[in-house]
Amino acid sequence: MTIKDLEQKARQENSSRLPLYQETYRQALLSTGLADLHLIGDVPVTTVPIGCTRNQREADETVIRAFPGLQPKDPRTPLYTETTETEALLFRLDLRRVMRWLRLNGLITEEPAADDEATLHAWILNRMKTVNPFREITRDHPVTQAIFGLVLSFRHLVLRQAVILSGFDRTSVSEYLFPRALSFVLYSKNRTAFTIGGLYTLFEQTLHEHLRAVMNAGEICIDDPVCLEETGACHACMHISEMSCEYFNRNLHRKYLFGRLEPDGREYSGYWDQRCAVEQIAM
Ligand SMILES: [Zn+2]
Repeated sequence: MTIKDLEQKARQENSSRLPLYQETYRQALLSTGLADLHLIGDVPVTTVPIGCTRNQREADETVIRAFPGLQPKDPRTPLYTETTETEALLFRLDLRRVMRWLRLNGLITEEPAADDEATLHAWILNRMKTVNPFREITRDHPVTQAIFGLVLSFRHLVLRQAVILSGFDRTSVSEYLFPRALSFVLYSKNRTAFTIGGLYTLFEQTLHEHLRAVMNAGEICIDDPVCLEETGACHACMHISEMSCEYFNRNLHRKYLFGRLEPDGREYSGYWDQRCAVEQIAM
């Protein structure tokens, strides 16, 4: 379901809601730099529990421990799985705004051949490296570092506000990232045969408030200025439950969204800087 579908539904059922979708929602997407947003009602999620030690942070120091075999001499490892359908919100960042943001930060050294969406997408795809979830991205890959950090930081703020505003439990919402497509998914971890519709309500009624809170509350950390000057992300501002982040809260920074003065005195511009704004979104 898209915002256009919400408009269609409002036309048929309750036309007093039309301005909310046509004006308020669109303005909220524009100011947060989102190209569009979809609600998906039937995302299949499979849960596979497995034990691991966690006294070390590094992946190669961890011991994985599965359930014991079903028969004494059976070499196979049993994995117990459960698949349920759940609801999800798909967020996609605005391609042109991302390009403006990269340009503003001096990360585009050779311009794309043309300005159409396919060429710009290809430009990004060709420069994004594969990211190891157990390592920080190094400065040798500045475009990957910036885009990945941006999409990941954006979704962490969205998820944190979903917990605060919509009453989801801290571990009951999770995320999935498609950095090359400048997209991420927020889904509720549903273990029952029905969805309670929390994300649907957010999408239908309070999306604009949610996005405003992401921008307003996301900038502040009680550990500033230390947090912003050093790691740029901590438990107080950006981290989420490690069960909900497949990248273990690595590669996050508030500067990707809000900007900051770098230690060398250079200005790093955030994605929400007005200079990156596009005039309208193609929906
Ligand atoms: Zn912080």
